[in-house]
Amino acid sequence: MHENKVTREAPLEATSPFVLRVDLGKDVPETDVRTALGNGDMGFLHSFTTGSAVDGPGVRVVAWTTGCMWRCRYCHNPDTWTLSNGIPVSIAKAAEELGKYRHGLKIMSGGLTISGGEPLMQHRFVVKLMRAAREMGIHTTIETNGFYGARLTDEDLEAIDLVMLGIKIWDPERHKQLTGEEIDPTLAFARRLAAGRRPIWVRFVLVPGLTDDLEDIAGIARFAAELGNVERVDVLPFHQLGRFKWERLGLQYTLGEVDPPSAEVMEQACSVFREAGLNTF
Ligand code: SF4
Repeated sequence: MHENKVTREAPLEATSPFVLRVDLGKDVPETDVRTALGNGDMGFLHSFTTGSAVDGPGVRVVAWTTGCMWRCRYCHNPDTWTLSNGIPVSIAKAAEELGKYRHGLKIMSGGLTISGGEPLMQHRFVVKLMRAAREMGIHTTIETNGFYGARLTDEDLEAIDLVMLGIKIWDPERHKQLTGEEIDPTLAFARRLAAGRRPIWVRFVLVPGLTDDLEDIAGIARFAAELGNVERVDVLPFHQLGRFKWERLGLQYTLGEVDPPSAEVMEQACSVFREAGLNTF
């Protein structure tokens, strides 16, 4: 059976999301890809890291999925955009690997985070892995842009303890220019999570000259504060760690001249969120 073949040939080893990965799943037949996406018994992972302290509460195991429907100009993992750049891995293999860390994760008040790419491109695999984690008593977090939030049923959401929701920019037109897509589905997902009292951590990347307009940030802050379920806002400084990937992939990178934000600019952005009554980190 193909899945067993893939599982034997693709050991799931902890590595770094900053490693450039290309075509690791390219030999998986298209029909198998469709089946995997259809039932979630197989997924595609860019990498699998352990010991992260910045991807959710406590210390996390992070599964980085491949596939994303957005094209954010500041994306530091453009090699995750294509599904076939990932390692094909069966749900059984992923759960088995996760199980190795279950005791350590509990001791360190951590859990599993599924990030990407955009995890909801493979929502059935993601939900199955979340459920497997839950059965092991492991806390579950998803880091998502929320665009495909409507793919998750209310029952699916029960398997996710925390949603880390990326809100990129407030102005709808600039959102389209920055990501290639509309902001409305993300906001609708946030409102749905709020209605179900499911916790959110908002993630906002501060890019000088692109997302640092304080009025625009205030729009995100007002929205997040009104939801009532946003536990914290992570303001993340733009960096150039992914630049080499754009260049190696032959993609046009438009932010080559942009420096990371200064401490002062970071503080200004954080204070906008704090003034709206939100916790920032
Ligand atoms: S949503 Fe995330 S993975 Fe997708 S393009 Fe934007 S930054 Fe990259």
